[in-house]
Amino acid sequence: MIRPNIGRLEHSLFLDEARMEPLALGVLAGLTPPDVEITLYDDRMEPVRYDEPADLAAISVETFTARRAYEISAAYRQRGVPVILGGIHVTLMPDEAAAYADAIFTGDAETLWPQVIDDARCGRLRKVYHAPVGAPHPGVLPRRDLFQGKGYLPVTLLQFSRGCRFACEFCAVSRYFNRAQFCRAVDEVLAEIEAQGRRHLFFVDDNILADHAAAKELFRALIPLRIQWVSQASLDMTEDLELMDLMARSGCLGNVVGFESLDPQNLQSMRKAPNLQGGLDAYRQQIEVLKDYGLQTWAAFTLGHDFDTVESIHRLLDFALENRFSFAAFNVLMPYPNTPLYQRLAAEGRLLYGGRWWLHPEYRFNYAAFQPRLMTADDLTEAGFYCRAHFNSPGAILHRALDLRTNMRSLYRLAIYAIYSRLFRQETLKKHGMRLGAE
Ligand code: SF4
Repeated sequence: MIRPNIGRLEHSLFLDEARMEPLALGVLAGLTPPDVEITLYDDRMEPVRYDEPADLAAISVETFTARRAYEISAAYRQRGVPVILGGIHVTLMPDEAAAYADAIFTGDAETLWPQVIDDARCGRLRKVYHAPVGAPHPGVLPRRDLFQGKGYLPVTLLQFSRGCRFACEFCAVSRYFNRAQFCRAVDEVLAEIEAQGRRHLFFVDDNILADHAAAKELFRALIPLRIQWVSQASLDMTEDLELMDLMARSGCLGNVVGFESLDPQNLQSMRKAPNLQGGLDAYRQQIEVLKDYGLQTWAAFTLGHDFDTVESIHRLLDFALENRFSFAAFNVLMPYPNTPLYQRLAAEGRLLYGGRWWLHPEYRFNYAAFQPRLMTADDLTEAGFYCRAHFNSPGAILHRALDLRTNMRSLYRLAIYAIYSRLFRQETLKKHGMRLGAE
């Protein structure tokens, strides 16, 4: 099983110091019959040993790792090892992926992966395995032993739910799950937490709060475990104070929250339903609620919407600094394949790099891959870098530390803030301009 890297810096493969466990491959290994010997290669920090004997190579593919995944696939196939590709990018672009593999797997692994193993044993791998998407199956524990000794951050990744009920125009998750959210049974989640032994957890849910009632049930059950956790959640959480209270008491340190833009016209046009409460004033009140509950928020912004200018993007940086968000991502809006945003930009003739920017040899990480409406693509790329560089400068890190309700709430919270601020500064700036793929 292989987790591909994104690409390479000037002289070497990009080494990701902030790397997290590849949970999806751990789940796939957990679904594999125990008599099958598995080796996991994480291309982010170790060489893939192509010449080790293997009967099947399974590669997980995301849009940003697609180019590298196809290179790895070619290297195995040259040696006569059959390759199966799966993951969200393969589900969104099955015809493309099929050209680079012996077999492709679309949808969630649970229902059909045992069939793949049986077919591979008999040398009868089918070209396409098309599985449904849905709730994680009960009773499947990820094989976390495969992660040991690889130097991942000491945080356990797990899932309570998959998918999200909202339909933001740019969101590949919403497209993949067709606006549905699927939750696991709470006792399954508790059993998984007890089986792994760490107290620091990352629920990698797309939106852990998409269903408030389900989230409350989970949080009530987490309170006695005395864990600390982070996740991703939509801003409408601030309208439900019972939810906020349970979330804080269950050990939530903070969430990645998509603010995206300050401009109501942008929020309307991207269909960011959880953020349509009334512009900047509403944001200010919502941020007060987040701080009242001590959450160290990671604010996520997307840059390059149709009403954005260079100046409006710079205002996002001011907003993030004024509100002393613990962390922030200033992501150039990416047209992920097959999303409504991608289809609209394609129809308007605004996609750059021939549309498939993820395969284009000239595309560079963090660069705009479409023509924005009110600025040039280069202006957008530069505005994104400007925000990231300033937000992560030593002076800004110090300024943001001084928030008594969040980062200065305790020595423990300050330590988390300091460790991750250093890591994110280093990684964010290093990645800019990286080429995709290694060859
Ligand atoms: S709220 Fe987040 S996860 Fe849900 S559709 Fe919007 S961007 Fe996607």
